Amino acid sequence: MLKWFGTACAAGLALVLSGCAGSSATPERAEPVKAGTAARRDQLLAKGTLTGVEALELAEMQLADRSFIAAEATYWSALTRGLDARGAWRARMGLGKCDESRLQWASAAIHYAEAANAAVPPVDRDAARAAQALAEFRGGNVDRARKTRAAIVVTSAKGVSELDRLLGGTAKVAPIPEAPAGVRTGTLAVRPKGTGRQTPPKIVTRSEWRATPTIIRRTEPMGQPTRLTLHHTADVKPVGTSFADVAERMRAYQNGHNGAGHFWADIGYHFVVDKQGRIWEGRPMAYQGAHAGSDAANAQNIGIALIGNFEKEKPTAAQMKATTDLVVWLASEYRIGAARVYGHEDLKKMYRLKGTKCPGDNFDPYLKRLRDAVGR
Ligand SMILES: [Zn+2]
Repeated sequence: MLKWFGTACAAGLALVLSGCAGSSATPERAEPVKAGTAARRDQLLAKGTLTGVEALELAEMQLADRSFIAAEATYWSALTRGLDARGAWRARMGLGKCDESRLQWASAAIHYAEAANAAVPPVDRDAARAAQALAEFRGGNVDRARKTRAAIVVTSAKGVSELDRLLGGTAKVAPIPEAPAGVRTGTLAVRPKGTGRQTPPKIVTRSEWRATPTIIRRTEPMGQPTRLTLHHTADVKPVGTSFADVAERMRAYQNGHNGAGHFWADIGYHFVVDKQGRIWEGRPMAYQGAHAGSDAANAQNIGIALIGNFEKEKPTAAQMKATTDLVVWLASEYRIGAARVYGHEDLKKMYRLKGTKCPGDNFDPYLKRLRDAVGR
């Protein structure tokens, strides 16, 4: 549950729910920062109008904090307010890193090329070229990456040795595919590009349960999902069985996470499965979830919550059928192996996070069945 409700694991709402959801305590975006840094950032944020140099300083703090969307906007404002050559180099390098967070390699390569043009010392110029070539390589443009590498003179510049390892190594390193540039809200189309090998199960969309829009300034991009985590909701107040009942609860979960006084972007989970076997679309898949308990645990991690408390009860047959369909589809879509299908408890151990049992001891055999169904 969430920090402001003072309990353990859930998407829980103060009065309505409790159990495991959202995340153990950490509000998204609030990775710990050094005290001096946080104070300085708050000072800059409070200042209103910043000079180019101040905006650059703020952008770099946001980047270090993995607040990529905020960082990107601040870098742009730094550039429009005027920076010297080194400042412009730093800003363009930062913009490239923001692109990389979304797997937008082509755009990243352009920003790094601009950084190389802005740079004065050859070591800065060639660090930018190395970053450019790495982005080209990761985007699948190996020939272009080799050409960019050929222009590098200062081989001690940052990134050059990694680049040489990738370009010269005999091991085949698969380029990472480009993520879609556009993000639309309100439909299931909002998700990273998958394989499309399998048709999705029927999913109740956000517009069908009348979700409010995602608060985009609070989000981080999901990037390519690489793992998947199961939760239970452990609601305090039982959830009704009708479509309207569950839709109402979905809105309550969402409001518990992003409503007044709370500061998440949206409902924390990407999907919720009810006891009748309906699958509900939660946070759009384009955005990182807030369900596992820390930024590191949430990264590239699809969050799926089952309504119920599996410390006290078991999932229903209809619920497990729908969950299996969903998990098998997502695993196929994003090439997620059985070993990357987790229960929240597994991640808590991995990242040393606290919280109540989730998804509950009774779920253990079902988790194993889900892994078997994924089968890789
Ligand atoms: Zn959980």
